[in-house]
Amino acid sequence: MGDLDRRIDSILPDVVEWRHDLHAHPELAFEEKRTAAFIAERLTSFGLEVHTGRAGTGVVGVLRCGNGPSIGMRADIDALPIEEAIGLPYASRHSGRMHACGHDGHTAMLLGAARVLAEARPKEGTFVFIFQPAEENEGGARVMVEQGLFSRFPVDAVYGAHNWPGLPCGHLAVHAGPVMAAFDTFEATIEGKGSHGAMPHQGVDPITIAAQLQIAWQTIVSRSVSPTDAAVISVTQIHAGDTWNVIPDKLVLRGTVRSFDPQVRDLLEAKMAQRADKICAALDASCRFVYQRRYPATINSVAEAGTARRAAALAVGGDRVVTDRPPSMGAEDFAFMLEQKPGAYIWIGNGPDAGGRNLHSPHYDFNDTALPHGIRYWVRLAETICIGAAT
Ligand SMILES: [Zn+2]
Ligand SMILES: [Zn+2]
Repeated sequence: MGDLDRRIDSILPDVVEWRHDLHAHPELAFEEKRTAAFIAERLTSFGLEVHTGRAGTGVVGVLRCGNGPSIGMRADIDALPIEEAIGLPYASRHSGRMHACGHDGHTAMLLGAARVLAEARPKEGTFVFIFQPAEENEGGARVMVEQGLFSRFPVDAVYGAHNWPGLPCGHLAVHAGPVMAAFDTFEATIEGKGSHGAMPHQGVDPITIAAQLQIAWQTIVSRSVSPTDAAVISVTQIHAGDTWNVIPDKLVLRGTVRSFDPQVRDLLEAKMAQRADKICAALDASCRFVYQRRYPATINSVAEAGTARRAAALAVGGDRVVTDRPPSMGAEDFAFMLEQKPGAYIWIGNGPDAGGRNLHSPHYDFNDTALPHGIRYWVRLAETICIGAAT
Protein backbone atom coordinates (compact mmCIF):
# COMPACT_ATOMS: atom_id res chain seq x y z
CA MET A 1 0.00 0.00 0.00
CA GLY A 2 1.44 3.36 -1.02
CA ASP A 3 1.63 6.51 1.06
CA LEU A 4 -1.40 8.02 -0.64
CA ASP A 5 -3.55 4.93 0.04
CA ARG A 6 -2.50 4.99 3.70
CA ARG A 7 -3.29 8.70 3.94
CA ILE A 8 -6.71 8.23 2.35
CA ASP A 9 -7.42 5.26 4.60
CA SER A 10 -6.64 7.34 7.66
CA ILE A 11 -9.06 10.16 6.74
CA LEU A 12 -11.77 7.89 5.30
CA PRO A 13 -13.83 7.62 8.52
CA ASP A 14 -14.05 11.43 8.58
CA VAL A 15 -15.02 11.59 4.90
CA VAL A 16 -17.76 8.98 5.42
CA GLU A 17 -19.03 10.96 8.41
CA TRP A 18 -19.12 14.17 6.32
CA ARG A 19 -20.99 12.36 3.55
CA HIS A 20 -23.61 11.06 5.98
CA ASP A 21 -23.97 14.45 7.65
CA LEU A 22 -24.50 16.13 4.26
CA HIS A 23 -26.93 13.38 3.28
CA ALA A 24 -29.00 13.94 6.42
CA HIS A 25 -29.26 17.69 5.69
CA PRO A 26 -30.08 18.05 1.98
CA GLU A 27 -30.67 21.56 0.66
CA LEU A 28 -32.14 22.61 -2.69
CA ALA A 29 -30.62 24.82 -5.39
CA PHE A 30 -29.29 28.16 -4.09
CA GLU A 31 -30.53 27.31 -0.57
CA GLU A 32 -27.39 25.36 0.45
CA LYS A 33 -26.59 27.59 3.45
CA ARG A 34 -25.82 24.87 5.97
CA THR A 35 -23.94 22.86 3.35
CA ALA A 36 -21.84 25.91 2.42
CA ALA A 37 -21.02 26.63 6.07
CA PHE A 38 -20.09 22.95 6.54
CA ILE A 39 -17.71 23.09 3.54
CA ALA A 40 -16.17 26.45 4.51
CA GLU A 41 -15.54 25.27 8.07
CA ARG A 42 -13.65 22.22 6.88
CA LEU A 43 -11.64 24.01 4.19
CA THR A 44 -10.62 26.59 6.80
CA SER A 45 -9.54 23.83 9.18
CA PHE A 46 -7.29 22.39 6.41
CA GLY A 47 -5.60 25.80 6.12
CA LEU A 48 -7.03 26.78 2.72
CA GLU A 49 -7.94 30.28 1.62
CA VAL A 50 -11.77 30.23 1.69
CA HIS A 51 -14.21 32.37 -0.30
CA THR A 52 -17.92 32.05 0.50
CA GLY A 53 -21.00 33.61 -1.09
CA ARG A 54 -19.93 32.78 -4.66
CA ALA A 55 -23.14 32.71 -6.74
CA GLY A 56 -25.07 32.89 -3.47
CA THR A 57 -24.20 29.66 -1.71
CA GLY A 58 -21.06 28.56 -3.56
CA VAL A 59 -17.72 28.14 -1.80
CA VAL A 60 -14.22 28.26 -3.30
CA GLY A 61 -11.15 27.00 -1.44
CA VAL A 62 -7.68 27.86 -2.77
CA LEU A 63 -4.45 26.04 -1.98
CA ARG A 64 -1.43 27.98 -3.25
CA CYS A 65 1.77 25.95 -3.51
CA GLY A 66 3.89 28.29 -5.62
CA ASN A 67 4.28 28.72 -9.35
CA GLY A 68 3.13 26.18 -11.85
CA PRO A 69 -0.25 25.28 -13.27
CA SER A 70 -3.53 26.31 -11.74
CA ILE A 71 -6.26 23.68 -11.70
CA GLY A 72 -9.97 24.00 -10.97
CA MET A 73 -11.68 20.98 -9.36
CA ARG A 74 -15.43 21.18 -9.02
CA ALA A 75 -18.07 19.42 -6.93
CA ASP A 76 -21.81 20.18 -6.96
CA ILE A 77 -23.50 20.50 -3.56
CA ASP A 78 -27.29 20.67 -4.03
CA ALA A 79 -30.03 18.10 -3.40
CA LEU A 80 -33.38 17.34 -5.10
CA PRO A 81 -37.07 17.82 -4.18
CA ILE A 82 -37.67 14.06 -3.74
CA GLU A 83 -39.07 12.21 -0.71
CA GLU A 84 -36.45 9.66 0.37
CA ALA A 85 -37.66 6.05 0.52
CA ILE A 86 -34.80 3.92 1.85
CA GLY A 87 -34.71 4.23 5.64
CA LEU A 88 -30.98 4.86 6.05
CA PRO A 89 -29.46 5.42 9.51
CA TYR A 90 -28.39 8.83 8.15
CA ALA A 91 -31.73 9.44 6.38
CA SER A 92 -32.72 12.90 5.17
CA ARG A 93 -34.07 14.98 8.04
CA HIS A 94 -35.77 17.35 5.60
CA SER A 95 -39.09 16.06 4.39
CA GLY A 96 -39.44 16.17 0.59
CA ARG A 97 -35.73 16.73 -0.01
CA MET A 98 -32.95 14.24 -0.57
CA HIS A 99 -29.48 13.79 -2.00
CA ALA A 100 -30.74 11.59 -4.84
CA CYS A 101 -27.94 12.49 -7.26
CA GLY A 102 -24.95 11.83 -4.99
CA HIS A 103 -23.81 15.43 -4.66
CA ASP A 104 -23.25 14.65 -0.96
CA GLY A 105 -20.63 12.12 -2.11
CA HIS A 106 -19.08 14.54 -4.62
CA THR A 107 -18.74 17.19 -1.91
CA ALA A 108 -17.24 14.76 0.62
CA MET A 109 -14.72 13.40 -1.94
CA LEU A 110 -13.51 16.84 -2.97
CA LEU A 111 -13.20 17.87 0.70
CA GLY A 112 -11.16 14.69 1.28
CA ALA A 113 -8.87 15.54 -1.65
CA ALA A 114 -8.47 19.12 -0.38
CA ARG A 115 -7.40 17.76 2.99
CA VAL A 116 -4.89 15.31 1.50
CA LEU A 117 -3.40 17.94 -0.83
CA ALA A 118 -3.30 20.59 1.91
CA GLU A 119 -1.28 18.20 4.07
CA ALA A 120 0.96 16.95 1.26
CA ARG A 121 1.53 20.51 -0.05
CA PRO A 122 2.76 19.76 -3.58
CA LYS A 123 5.89 21.74 -4.50
CA GLU A 124 4.06 23.81 -7.03
CA GLY A 125 0.68 24.62 -8.45
CA THR A 126 -2.49 26.39 -7.40
CA PHE A 127 -5.49 24.21 -6.59
CA VAL A 128 -8.92 25.81 -6.77
CA PHE A 129 -11.63 23.70 -5.12
CA ILE A 130 -14.99 24.84 -6.49
CA PHE A 131 -18.09 23.85 -4.49
CA GLN A 132 -20.89 24.83 -6.82
CA PRO A 133 -24.54 25.34 -5.84
CA ALA A 134 -27.66 24.54 -7.85
CA GLU A 135 -26.53 21.98 -10.41
CA GLU A 136 -30.07 20.60 -10.67
CA ASN A 137 -32.12 22.68 -13.14
CA GLU A 138 -30.94 26.09 -11.96
CA GLY A 139 -27.50 26.26 -13.62
CA GLY A 140 -25.39 27.33 -10.63
CA ALA A 141 -22.27 26.79 -12.76
CA ARG A 142 -23.51 29.43 -15.23
CA VAL A 143 -24.12 31.88 -12.39
CA MET A 144 -20.64 31.26 -10.96
CA VAL A 145 -19.07 31.80 -14.39
CA GLU A 146 -21.14 34.96 -15.05
CA GLN A 147 -20.13 36.33 -11.65
CA GLY A 148 -16.46 36.07 -12.61
CA LEU A 149 -15.37 32.70 -11.21
CA PHE A 150 -12.45 32.37 -13.60
CA SER A 151 -11.34 36.00 -13.51
CA ARG A 152 -11.28 35.92 -9.71
CA PHE A 153 -9.73 32.42 -9.65
CA PRO A 154 -7.79 31.96 -12.89
CA VAL A 155 -7.24 28.32 -13.83
CA ASP A 156 -5.54 26.66 -16.81
CA ALA A 157 -8.14 23.90 -16.86
CA VAL A 158 -11.18 22.77 -14.90
CA TYR A 159 -12.21 19.24 -13.99
CA GLY A 160 -15.46 17.70 -12.77
CA ALA A 161 -16.76 14.27 -11.79
CA HIS A 162 -20.08 12.54 -11.21
CA ASN A 163 -20.91 9.18 -9.67
CA TRP A 164 -22.36 6.74 -12.18
CA PRO A 165 -24.74 3.92 -11.17
CA GLY A 166 -24.24 0.92 -13.44
CA LEU A 167 -20.49 1.49 -13.67
CA PRO A 168 -18.72 -0.89 -11.24
CA CYS A 169 -17.35 0.69 -8.08
CA GLY A 170 -13.60 1.21 -8.49
CA HIS A 171 -13.97 1.94 -12.21
CA LEU A 172 -13.68 5.40 -13.73
CA ALA A 173 -15.04 6.34 -17.17
CA VAL A 174 -13.39 9.04 -19.28
CA HIS A 175 -14.75 10.39 -22.59
CA ALA A 176 -12.48 12.13 -25.10
CA GLY A 177 -15.22 14.47 -26.36
CA PRO A 178 -18.98 14.63 -25.71
CA VAL A 179 -19.98 13.17 -22.34
CA MET A 180 -23.37 14.75 -21.48
CA ALA A 181 -26.00 16.22 -23.79
CA ALA A 182 -27.30 19.76 -24.20
CA PHE A 183 -30.55 20.25 -22.30
CA ASP A 184 -33.38 22.47 -23.58
CA THR A 185 -37.04 22.85 -22.67
CA PHE A 186 -40.08 23.95 -24.67
CA GLU A 187 -43.70 24.98 -24.18
CA ALA A 188 -46.35 25.19 -26.90
CA THR A 189 -49.69 26.81 -26.10
CA ILE A 190 -52.27 25.90 -28.73
CA GLU A 191 -55.28 28.23 -28.90
CA GLY A 192 -58.28 26.67 -30.62
CA LYS A 193 -61.97 27.28 -30.02
CA GLY A 194 -63.90 25.41 -27.37
CA SER A 195 -67.12 23.62 -28.21
CA HIS A 196 -69.54 20.88 -27.13
CA GLY A 197 -67.86 17.44 -27.26
CA ALA A 198 -70.74 16.23 -29.43
CA MET A 199 -70.48 19.15 -31.86
CA PRO A 200 -66.77 19.45 -32.71
CA HIS A 201 -67.50 21.13 -36.04
CA GLN A 202 -68.50 24.26 -34.12
CA GLY A 203 -65.02 24.68 -32.61
CA VAL A 204 -61.32 24.18 -33.25
CA ASP A 205 -60.10 21.19 -31.24
CA PRO A 206 -56.61 21.80 -29.75
CA ILE A 207 -56.35 18.15 -28.60
CA THR A 208 -56.44 16.75 -32.15
CA ILE A 209 -53.95 19.39 -33.21
CA ALA A 210 -51.61 18.54 -30.32
CA ALA A 211 -51.70 14.87 -31.36
CA GLN A 212 -50.61 15.78 -34.89
CA LEU A 213 -47.96 18.17 -33.64
CA GLN A 214 -46.46 15.54 -31.33
CA ILE A 215 -46.11 13.07 -34.24
CA ALA A 216 -44.67 15.78 -36.49
CA TRP A 217 -42.07 16.66 -33.85
CA GLN A 218 -41.05 13.00 -33.47
CA THR A 219 -40.32 12.81 -37.19
CA ILE A 220 -37.77 15.63 -36.84
CA VAL A 221 -35.46 13.20 -35.02
CA SER A 222 -36.19 10.26 -37.33
CA ARG A 223 -36.33 12.14 -40.68
CA SER A 224 -34.43 15.45 -40.37
CA VAL A 225 -31.52 14.67 -38.05
CA SER A 226 -28.72 12.56 -39.51
CA PRO A 227 -28.98 8.95 -38.28
CA THR A 228 -25.40 9.23 -36.99
CA ASP A 229 -26.23 12.22 -34.76
CA ALA A 230 -27.95 11.82 -31.41
CA ALA A 231 -31.10 13.79 -30.54
CA VAL A 232 -34.16 13.39 -28.33
CA ILE A 233 -37.46 15.26 -28.33
CA SER A 234 -39.71 14.21 -25.46
CA VAL A 235 -43.14 15.68 -24.81
CA THR A 236 -43.52 15.14 -21.08
CA GLN A 237 -46.68 17.13 -20.27
CA ILE A 238 -50.03 17.69 -21.96
CA HIS A 239 -52.54 19.86 -20.14
CA ALA A 240 -56.06 20.47 -21.42
CA GLY A 241 -59.71 19.90 -20.64
CA ASP A 242 -61.74 19.39 -17.48
CA THR A 243 -64.59 17.06 -18.33
CA TRP A 244 -65.98 14.44 -20.76
CA ASN A 245 -68.16 16.45 -23.06
CA VAL A 246 -66.36 19.76 -23.53
CA ILE A 247 -63.65 20.36 -26.11
CA PRO A 248 -61.34 22.89 -24.45
CA ASP A 249 -60.22 26.03 -26.22
CA LYS A 250 -56.60 25.79 -25.12
CA LEU A 251 -53.88 23.15 -24.63
CA VAL A 252 -50.32 23.31 -23.31
CA LEU A 253 -47.55 20.89 -24.32
CA ARG A 254 -44.20 20.88 -22.54
CA GLY A 255 -41.10 18.77 -22.73
CA THR A 256 -37.36 18.49 -23.16
CA VAL A 257 -34.90 18.32 -26.04
CA ARG A 258 -31.40 16.79 -25.94
CA SER A 259 -28.54 16.94 -28.44
CA PHE A 260 -24.74 17.19 -28.68
CA ASP A 261 -23.92 19.02 -31.90
CA PRO A 262 -24.72 22.78 -31.88
CA GLN A 263 -25.95 22.55 -35.49
CA VAL A 264 -28.33 19.74 -34.56
CA ARG A 265 -29.53 21.86 -31.64
CA ASP A 266 -30.24 24.78 -34.00
CA LEU A 267 -32.09 22.47 -36.38
CA LEU A 268 -34.25 20.96 -33.61
CA GLU A 269 -35.30 24.36 -32.31
CA ALA A 270 -36.03 25.80 -35.76
CA LYS A 271 -38.02 22.79 -37.00
CA MET A 272 -40.03 22.46 -33.79
CA ALA A 273 -41.01 26.14 -33.96
CA GLN A 274 -41.81 25.91 -37.67
CA ARG A 275 -44.01 22.82 -37.29
CA ALA A 276 -45.83 24.26 -34.28
CA ASP A 277 -46.59 27.39 -36.24
CA LYS A 278 -47.52 25.80 -39.57
CA ILE A 279 -49.51 22.79 -38.28
CA CYS A 280 -51.56 24.98 -35.96
CA ALA A 281 -52.14 27.54 -38.73
CA ALA A 282 -53.18 24.81 -41.19
CA LEU A 283 -55.72 23.54 -38.66
CA ASP A 284 -57.17 26.99 -37.83
CA ALA A 285 -55.53 27.37 -34.43
CA SER A 286 -52.82 29.69 -33.22
CA CYS A 287 -49.73 28.63 -31.32
CA ARG A 288 -47.30 30.34 -28.98
CA PHE A 289 -44.06 28.36 -28.95
CA VAL A 290 -41.32 29.08 -26.41
CA TYR A 291 -37.99 27.26 -26.59
CA GLN A 292 -35.42 27.69 -23.85
CA ARG A 293 -31.78 26.66 -24.10
CA ARG A 294 -30.89 25.51 -20.60
CA TYR A 295 -27.48 23.74 -20.50
CA PRO A 296 -24.99 23.34 -23.36
CA ALA A 297 -23.50 19.92 -24.11
CA THR A 298 -20.66 18.83 -21.84
CA ILE A 299 -17.68 18.29 -24.14
CA ASN A 300 -14.31 17.22 -22.76
CA SER A 301 -11.30 18.77 -24.49
CA VAL A 302 -9.03 16.09 -25.93
CA ALA A 303 -5.77 16.99 -24.15
CA GLU A 304 -7.45 17.34 -20.73
CA ALA A 305 -9.39 14.10 -21.25
CA GLY A 306 -5.96 12.50 -21.79
CA THR A 307 -4.73 14.01 -18.52
CA ALA A 308 -7.86 12.75 -16.73
CA ARG A 309 -7.29 9.29 -18.22
CA ARG A 310 -3.69 9.17 -16.97
CA ALA A 311 -4.75 10.33 -13.50
CA ALA A 312 -7.59 7.78 -13.49
CA ALA A 313 -5.13 4.99 -14.38
CA LEU A 314 -2.87 6.03 -11.50
CA ALA A 315 -5.89 6.14 -9.19
CA VAL A 316 -7.57 2.80 -9.96
CA GLY A 317 -5.28 0.96 -12.42
CA GLY A 318 -5.40 1.18 -16.20
CA ASP A 319 -7.63 -1.89 -16.57
CA ARG A 320 -10.35 -0.15 -14.56
CA VAL A 321 -10.43 2.98 -16.68
CA VAL A 322 -13.31 2.75 -19.16
CA THR A 323 -13.01 4.78 -22.35
CA ASP A 324 -15.63 3.19 -24.60
CA ARG A 325 -18.87 4.12 -22.83
CA PRO A 326 -21.29 6.06 -25.03
CA PRO A 327 -22.10 9.55 -23.73
CA SER A 328 -25.30 10.10 -21.75
CA MET A 329 -28.35 12.05 -22.96
CA GLY A 330 -28.54 13.43 -19.40
CA ALA A 331 -27.24 16.96 -18.88
CA GLU A 332 -24.80 18.67 -16.57
CA ASP A 333 -24.25 22.37 -15.92
CA PHE A 334 -20.47 21.81 -15.65
CA ALA A 335 -20.80 22.39 -19.40
CA PHE A 336 -20.83 26.15 -18.67
CA MET A 337 -17.39 25.87 -17.08
CA LEU A 338 -16.11 23.81 -20.04
CA GLU A 339 -17.32 26.58 -22.38
CA GLN A 340 -14.82 28.89 -20.66
CA LYS A 341 -11.90 26.58 -19.93
CA PRO A 342 -10.48 23.34 -21.29
CA GLY A 343 -11.14 20.42 -19.01
CA ALA A 344 -12.74 17.04 -18.47
CA TYR A 345 -15.68 15.56 -16.61
CA ILE A 346 -15.45 11.92 -15.64
CA TRP A 347 -17.79 9.26 -14.23
CA ILE A 348 -16.99 7.49 -10.98
CA GLY A 349 -18.43 3.97 -10.69
CA ASN A 350 -21.21 3.82 -8.09
CA GLY A 351 -21.84 0.07 -8.42
CA PRO A 352 -25.00 -1.77 -9.49
CA ASP A 353 -28.08 0.26 -10.39
CA ALA A 354 -30.56 -2.54 -9.61
CA GLY A 355 -33.37 -1.95 -7.12
CA GLY A 356 -33.85 1.70 -8.02
CA ARG A 357 -30.29 2.71 -7.18
CA ASN A 358 -30.38 5.13 -10.07
CA LEU A 359 -29.78 8.87 -10.09
CA HIS A 360 -32.91 10.84 -9.04
CA SER A 361 -34.63 7.73 -7.64
CA PRO A 362 -36.10 7.86 -4.09
CA HIS A 363 -34.20 4.56 -3.52
CA TYR A 364 -30.80 5.92 -4.55
CA ASP A 365 -27.87 6.39 -2.18
CA PHE A 366 -24.29 7.35 -2.96
CA ASN A 367 -21.99 4.34 -2.56
CA ASP A 368 -19.49 5.06 0.24
CA THR A 369 -17.06 2.49 -1.14
CA ALA A 370 -16.57 4.86 -4.11
CA LEU A 371 -15.25 7.62 -1.82
CA PRO A 372 -11.56 6.54 -1.72
CA HIS A 373 -11.47 6.09 -5.50
CA GLY A 374 -12.81 9.60 -6.05
CA ILE A 375 -10.36 11.13 -3.57
CA ARG A 376 -7.47 9.24 -5.15
CA TYR A 377 -8.53 10.43 -8.61
CA TRP A 378 -8.54 14.10 -7.54
CA VAL A 379 -5.14 13.83 -5.83
CA ARG A 380 -3.57 11.92 -8.75
CA LEU A 381 -5.02 14.48 -11.15
CA ALA A 382 -3.37 17.34 -9.24
CA GLU A 383 -0.07 15.44 -9.15
CA THR A 384 -0.27 14.46 -12.82
CA ILE A 385 -0.78 18.06 -13.91
CA CYS A 386 1.95 19.49 -11.68
CA ILE A 387 4.51 16.79 -12.42
CA GLY A 388 3.62 16.99 -16.11
CA ALA A 389 4.25 20.75 -16.04
CA ALA A 390 7.58 20.32 -14.24
CA THR A 391 9.08 17.84 -16.71
ZN1 LIG B 1 -29.00 15.08 -10.83
ZN1 LIG C 1 -25.92 15.13 -10.24
